[in-house]
Amino acid sequence: MTERLRADVAIVGGGIAGCAAAAALRQAGLTVVLLEKSLCGAGASGVNFGGVRQQGRHLAELPLARRARPLWDRMRETVGEDVEFEATGHIKLARSEADMAELERYARDAAEYGLRLQLLGANAARAELPWLGETVVGASLSPRTGRRTRASSGRLTRGSRDGSVPTCASTRR
Ligand SMILES: Cc1cc2nc3c(=O)[nH]c(=O)nc-3n(C[C@H](O)[C@H](O)[C@H](O)COP(=O)(O)OP(=O)(O)OC[C@H]3O[C@@H](n4cnc5c(N)ncnc54)[C@H](O)[C@@H]3O)c2cc1C
Repeated sequence: MTERLRADVAIVGGGIAGCAAAAALRQAGLTVVLLEKSLCGAGASGVNFGGVRQQGRHLAELPLARRARPLWDRMRETVGEDVEFEATGHIKLARSEADMAELERYARDAAEYGLRLQLLGANAARAELPWLGETVVGASLSPRTGRRTRASSGRLTRGSRDGSVPTCASTRR
């Protein structure tokens, strides 16, 4: 069946990038057509580890990661249902003094972008995670980092229930 769709913006790909863009454009009052060759969320967006990570990202990515992080706290209101986001924290371990120096350097650099990391010595790291082995000499903790479940990735890309976002059409050849 061939159908002519008219919209202000056409987006190719119904992963989290395309669906988030569609939702934002709808909020801005534009009409959107989302073209997905398979199922929304069937690509990487539906199978990833769910980490909403800031620590360890390339410094060039930090401004965007910092800006995105508060959006997850409001995701229930944004998409209309629970996406199972939890601010569980994210820890990077050092197993040598060189590793630790690297974590310290990153923490200094990241602080310039407003990302506050807690550097832990071996005892403090084991107090946080008692099951850590003897090889751990320290750690860097990002307390506000979080994760969502894989199932929630699919939900995020399903579009809102009121049908305002997005129109999905197949572009399979
Ligand atoms: C195993 C794994 C673990 C990951 N873990 C994490 C993590 O913990 N944290 C994190 O932030 N990121 C993680 N990622 C990365 C993250 O999943 C991706 O960066 C993100 O999902 C990319 O979203 P996207 O919308 O750009 O692409 P996708 O989710 O791949 O969506 C692209 C969509 O475009 C569609 N498409 C492609 N070509 C066409 C076409 N010609 N016409 C129509 N539709 C088309 C595809 O079918 C697909 O649905 C992980 C990735 C993988 C694979």
